[in-house]
Amino acid sequence: MANSGHLVVVVGAGPAGIYGTRKLAEAGHEVILLNRDIKPGGLVEYGIYWNKHKMKEGIRKQFRQILGDARVHYVGNVKLGEQADLTLQEVRNVLKPSVLVVAAGAQGTKSLGLPGEEARGVFHAKDLVYHYNGLPPFSERPFDLGERVAIIGIGNVAIDIAHYLVHERQTPEVILVARRGPAQRAYTDIEIKSVAANFDREALDQELERVRPHIHVDDDGFVALHKALTKHVNEPGKEGVSTTRLTFRYLSAPTEVLSDADERVSALRVEDTTLVPKGEDFSARSLGTHYDLPVDTVIFAVGDSADAHLGLPYSGSAYVKNPVPDATNAGDEAYQVYDPATEQRLTDTFVIGWSRQASDGLVGKAKQDGERGVAVVQRFLETQASGSAANVGEKFAALEALLKSRGVRTVSWTDVQKLEAVEQEAAAQRGLEFFKHGSNAEMLAAIGAK
Ligand SMILES: Cc1cc2nc3c(=O)[nH]c(=O)nc-3n(C[C@H](O)[C@H](O)[C@H](O)COP(=O)(O)OP(=O)(O)OC[C@H]3O[C@@H](n4cnc5c(N)ncnc54)[C@H](O)[C@@H]3O)c2cc1C
Repeated sequence: MANSGHLVVVVGAGPAGIYGTRKLAEAGHEVILLNRDIKPGGLVEYGIYWNKHKMKEGIRKQFRQILGDARVHYVGNVKLGEQADLTLQEVRNVLKPSVLVVAAGAQGTKSLGLPGEEARGVFHAKDLVYHYNGLPPFSERPFDLGERVAIIGIGNVAIDIAHYLVHERQTPEVILVARRGPAQRAYTDIEIKSVAANFDREALDQELERVRPHIHVDDDGFVALHKALTKHVNEPGKEGVSTTRLTFRYLSAPTEVLSDADERVSALRVEDTTLVPKGEDFSARSLGTHYDLPVDTVIFAVGDSADAHLGLPYSGSAYVKNPVPDATNAGDEAYQVYDPATEQRLTDTFVIGWSRQASDGLVGKAKQDGERGVAVVQRFLETQASGSAANVGEKFAALEALLKSRGVRTVSWTDVQKLEAVEQEAAAQRGLEFFKHGSNAEMLAAIGAK
């Protein structure tokens, strides 16, 4: 494809940003891809469970091809935002792109706003996921996890956390807490297999009997549900034996975190719920009675939110998108950012992937959303005068100079390739499947002087 003459800046090199970038480059645009982390990949690198090495490597191969395109200019180790290395407005001022596409994922943490949430021993799933996947600075922080851990949520992320506690920490007791019932579980078979051998089956049977009057299943349905829940309990895990006892507490809405004299979590208070039909599904209705789960650690695995400090109009837990479909808005999803203060669209700014819809699906979904979003961007660009890519080299130099003046050591695609080679060599020397440096300083040292 011939050069379009447009420069597009993409913020965030996770799957949405990288697959979106491929479509933009294929359309003939120059793309500058700014990424907070030194390495590209986002949650493929730092979210997907650490030992799914083959899956990660398969996706990385595709990313390498895209990032090697001559029209794509990767700049890692640069955080955008209000109190960060660079603001979005500075990007607009210095690079003067035709369009800014935000693909920064969902970096805000979501909690339930429970009284006592600030106690020691309360964690957010994403921080722990980043920790065990080796993302600085989370990789460098100790996580003082206790012996009895309540995980709030029963989606795949909650199960990944349980996986880590069972196999890496050998935590004595892990309780998965759900507001609704066992049939409303949101995890998949593939994920639960990793921990199913650790279910306390007697406790599970008792728990199912406890909630049976509330979950709207007849006898046959109850048997089928029991079978589905325990399908993998006799399958020996690939990761060896763990003594962790894993239990479930259904129909329980957390209401308070209780703590001891040392301000350490001592219990999670939950309110009993019952299921009430809602459309084709069920919602949880509180019953007013409470139960205290004696735990010393609480981990929220209830999804994430967009980063409120990135510099985009924000409402609730998300960026504000154009409420009125228009020529640039292909379908139901709105990708263009909207400022409710001025009641105007930010015509040059779009959001894709988990930045558009936090915690929404797997890599395939983020890819699809990135590609759909940039199709909308493409239609918008077709209506715009081109020329923003004319002096991309000079603009790039100005950006580098500005970041250098702020002490930011940017990382190019060539640098990332060098780092990957060093890490592959280190893995080979140690006889490991892979090796990751645990801090930015180590990664930058491996890359060497600029
Ligand atoms: C615990 C967990 C396990 C998962 N397991 C799987 C799995 O097994 N299989 C699967 O298919 N999917 C899995 N997923 C889902 C998958 O990872 C996501 O669908 C996908 O990564 C979302 O892509 P994204 O590009 O929107 O965001 P992200 O992957 O989060 O990428 C965002 C990028 O933006 C950058 N960024 C963030 N803030 C800034 C900033 N301020 N300035 C500049 N750059 C910034 C980050 O450095 C990152 O590179 C998992 C997700 C989680 C949380």
